[in-house]
Amino acid sequence: MKNKTQYHYRDTLNYAPVDVVKGIDLITKSLVKADDLAPPEYELLPKCKFCKHFSSGANSNYKGSCLGFAKPFLAYPDMIAKTCSSYIKNEHE
Ligand code: SF4
Repeated sequence: MKNKTQYHYRDTLNYAPVDVVKGIDLITKSLVKADDLAPPEYELLPKCKFCKHFSSGANSNYKGSCLGFAKPFLAYPDMIAKTCSSYIKNEHE
């Protein structure tokens, strides 16, 4: 049986950031670190870095390109994609 992927709190829908290092777990209401692993049942927050159309920059972890529209454009990995009409979750996420 395949284990369910665990995401960092900052990459889940069940997390509300307070600042860059910590936030609130919306299920337990506890203060957690953004980079800690969330429980496996927590849902992935759609972000460009999880999208099939995102191409990461060769020389940077902080920017890449969106290839999901007619013209490629600069995209940031942590850009929230909840309202993007072209978001398609990468199969390996
Ligand atoms: S299609 Fe949308 S979610 Fe995907 S990389 Fe482009 S802007 Fe981000």
